[in-house]
Amino acid sequence: MSGSAADDYDVIILGGGSGGYACALRAAGLGLSVALVEKAKLGGTCLHQGCIPTKAMLHTAEVADATRQSAQFGVTATLESVDMAAVHRYKDGVVARLYKGLQGLVKAATIDYVEGVGALDGHRTVVVGDRRLNAANVVLATGSRARSLPGLEVTGRIMTSDEALTIDEVPERVVVLGGGVIGVEFASVFKSFGADVTVIEALPRLVAAEDEAISKQLERAFRRRKIAVKTGARFAGATQSEDVVTISLESGETLEADLLLVAVGRDPATDGLGYEAAGVTVDRGFVPTDDRLRTSVDGVYAVGDIVPGLQLAHRGFAQGIFVAEEIAGLAPAVIDEPGIPRVTYCDPEIASVGLDEAQARERYGEVETYEYNLGGNGKSQILGTQGFVKLVRAKDGPVVGVHMIGARMGEQVGEAQLIVGWDAHPEDVAGFVHAHPTQNEALGEAHLALAGKPLHAHA
Ligand SMILES: Cc1cc2nc3c(=O)[nH]c(=O)nc-3n(C[C@H](O)[C@H](O)[C@H](O)COP(=O)(O)OP(=O)(O)OC[C@H]3O[C@@H](n4cnc5c(N)ncnc54)[C@H](O)[C@@H]3O)c2cc1C
Repeated sequence: MSGSAADDYDVIILGGGSGGYACALRAAGLGLSVALVEKAKLGGTCLHQGCIPTKAMLHTAEVADATRQSAQFGVTATLESVDMAAVHRYKDGVVARLYKGLQGLVKAATIDYVEGVGALDGHRTVVVGDRRLNAANVVLATGSRARSLPGLEVTGRIMTSDEALTIDEVPERVVVLGGGVIGVEFASVFKSFGADVTVIEALPRLVAAEDEAISKQLERAFRRRKIAVKTGARFAGATQSEDVVTISLESGETLEADLLLVAVGRDPATDGLGYEAAGVTVDRGFVPTDDRLRTSVDGVYAVGDIVPGLQLAHRGFAQGIFVAEEIAGLAPAVIDEPGIPRVTYCDPEIASVGLDEAQARERYGEVETYEYNLGGNGKSQILGTQGFVKLVRAKDGPVVGVHMIGARMGEQVGEAQLIVGWDAHPEDVAGFVHAHPTQNEALGEAHLALAGKPLHAHA
């Protein structure tokens, strides 16, 4: 497929993060001519400042905890220190290998990779430096950046996740402002690295986007890990000197720390890029789309974190692929947003898909729920983890939500996603034999119980 004679490309993609590069690769694979404009590094937030480096640090955290707890498993070892220089070498090595691989993929796909800051000039032209690129279709994929609060300047001891990924020593005391996904992941890392950690969250619970039972269990687990949690606590301000940052809450309480991590969400990166001038509707910085990811302007699509909804890399990948297929005329199926799996990689890990109990009650009226305690799961006992698998089912209907918490439970989200995505009933899942002893068995047992034939389940 080709654009009109005046077009340089079938598709120009502005931003080479998860959403943008996925779109570029799929579009090129479908034979479209593609330009991918990127001002920094191909791979975007996820590869360079997000998913990959944070999960590498979380893995280091797991190794540190395993070393500390080794005697419990019969291994004599002592944790001397966490060497941040070595942590960064390991983390940066992982990122570098993936980055190289991704660059190779884009090169092999014969995508025109254009380095520089791009902006829309009219609805089908992207300007990069002194180049003007025209296309039949433009995909906006400029992503997001860490947000701060009014009056809170990110400098020195006050950091966002970007700076926290490069600190050269483990701080003694950390205050994490924000108990969402990024906040609890960093709280978990810092605690495992040896810091005293306090999480401040204005809402009544941590990870407020998850099922309430998950928040409660996480708070219990964090308290057991001696991570202080202050929910319903409103931040008032912070000041810093060379040695300390002092955080005050609206309650009048003050806290001192060596590092304040600001994890209060991410703003869309859409200002100053000509979107509104081109007629694209922008709402509080986000670019609203219809379910086919079309913006308010014909031929202009948006994907990834700038589109209201879950800010997740795999949502960006899926949206990028969707738009490429849409442009190529394949009429792909609309992405089911609640069917997108969500994993929070703190210890204990959280994994969920579908509706939480409150949402399901709102949608279906009557629902049934079941919580399978990992206490009955052999592999979880071997690992020494606590948690549960919670199922939410429409009364006598399919399972519409799966919510899990416990070490490594993120690995179980694949089956949970198929169950919810394929509208499976507990009886359907109960018929599948789950391998013993795996944590996956906990999912099987939860369904056995909800189907009325529990095995290793305590009432
Ligand atoms: C600390 C942290 C941890 C995370 N962990 C996870 C996780 O475990 N799992 C998960 O699914 N998600 C995670 N995320 C979220 C994930 O990183 C984002 O959802 C994902 O990167 C969004 O992809 P995107 O393509 O929309 O934007 P981005 O990845 O932000 O990419 C946008 C790209 O556009 C470029 N760009 C912007 N403006 C211009 C311009 N004018 N011209 C040219 N280029 C431009 C940027 O340089 C950037 O490369 C995490 C995020 C953070 C911050």
